Amino acid sequence: MAFSLIGDDTAQFIAPTPIPDPYWVAVSPRAAELIQLPLGADRLPIDPDWLAVLAGNRLEVGDIAFPNPMATVYSGHQFGHWAGQLGDGRAILLGDLHGQELQLKGAGITRYSRMGDGRAVLRSSIREFLCSEAMHALGIPTTRALSVVGSKQGVRRETMETAAVCARLAPSFIRIGHFEHFAALGSTQRLRELANDLIQNHYPECQHKNGPFLELFKAISERSAKLVAHWQAVGFCHGVLNSDNISALGLTMDYGPFGFLDHTALNHICNHTDTGGRYAYHRQPQIMHWNMACLANAMIPLIEKESPSEDAADLLRGALSAFPPSYEAHWLTLFRKKLGLEAEASGDMNLIEHLLQLMHANRADFTTTFRLLAAIEKNASALDSGWRDQFADREGADEWLNMYRIRLEQENTTDDQRKIQMNRVNPKYILRNHLAQQAIVLAQADDFSGVNTLLDILSNPFDEQPAYDAYAQAPLPNEVVTDLSCSS
Ligand code: AMP
Ligand code: MG
Repeated sequence: MAFSLIGDDTAQFIAPTPIPDPYWVAVSPRAAELIQLPLGADRLPIDPDWLAVLAGNRLEVGDIAFPNPMATVYSGHQFGHWAGQLGDGRAILLGDLHGQELQLKGAGITRYSRMGDGRAVLRSSIREFLCSEAMHALGIPTTRALSVVGSKQGVRRETMETAAVCARLAPSFIRIGHFEHFAALGSTQRLRELANDLIQNHYPECQHKNGPFLELFKAISERSAKLVAHWQAVGFCHGVLNSDNISALGLTMDYGPFGFLDHTALNHICNHTDTGGRYAYHRQPQIMHWNMACLANAMIPLIEKESPSEDAADLLRGALSAFPPSYEAHWLTLFRKKLGLEAEASGDMNLIEHLLQLMHANRADFTTTFRLLAAIEKNASALDSGWRDQFADREGADEWLNMYRIRLEQENTTDDQRKIQMNRVNPKYILRNHLAQQAIVLAQADDFSGVNTLLDILSNPFDEQPAYDAYAQAPLPNEVVTDLSCSS
């Protein structure tokens, strides 16, 4: 467990509050592998005691025991404003298993629950479970989800719903908000412990350099820049990029009102509570940069001690300025791959931007458009039509296609090679909100087949799965999910 967070001022040692009559909703076989948890043919843990453990009702199973479950304290900026102390208000860390921390979200009230009930609902737990595993399969750094366990216990949100517990896994759940918390308290000792914990356990490359704390800042910022480039490349909108939801390990974390772009709107806001669009799709890179500024600010006391002869704020400002070019470089690399481009040509950025603007203007489906682009050959053919059909503005589409074909002349790959490479990076299947919603509605009626089917499809997002073609389709107008809020 994060040793830097063990202490009376940093955490509360508290057992989860049991939930009545827990039942399995789903288990992720790949996440189970991570902690070497054996599953049976029914895809559930062979040892039935795991149900009680992952419900928060029991603290040992076989020869594994979790003697010190705990909730940690952090603070943070929410929607651009300092929110003061927050903390694990409904997440309880059970302990470590094979290098992963096992945390139960929705495990009951802690010292940090404030006005909350410590619970999570089935709906949001299924969404977090599916998206964590889908993101991992897409090759995007993320906390993982091992299981969802349900209970008929009622939980009040906008309407009455039922409780669930999502078991999450990550090498560490340390957030930018942890740094901000100790910085706000003026506790440089705690900040140092936190930074050393990260360096020792997660950023060993920072250990031997002069100024390891500045190196740590650079490394976190670099991972975060890469992470947000990944999000942009699959059309993922996080929805609540508050600094308390930003991992210090560069993982996607705290899935709430997230959404993938369907009909492309670059200013898409997936969280309807976010009326100003602070966390809209096209603002995510800027916002991640802003969150890194929060981290830099929190780390000033560490850098002051580390480099007393220099201006700590200046050093951090310098390090922070590496974020935009790093993000841009990752973005360009990822989008070049999406277009099947191996060479680097100076006009590539414009070519990609032009395509995104065209998709935006035509509300082309983000995932389908990139997936179908692989069918385009160096010479115009009947295969063009699938891709062109994504655009009402055929002239605009053809204009772009011409530029793309001219650009392809600089490539040494054959059409077939390019198609294979593009299909490895442009998913066919993503967790579309309407699909998650359909699985949730079934699960709310105790049918978990929809959750498990989606989990299986999304575990192989780049493969053609002909039986599941319908799951690759954009939502019909009546299927679009429009009212996702922070309520979870
Ligand atoms: P989130 O918006 O889920 O990232 O949560 C922001 C803060 O509110 C975190 O400190 C959470 O632990 C806390 N929180 C959210 N929902 C609840 C709840 N139902 N009960 C207690 N705390 C909660
Ligand atoms: Mg959160």
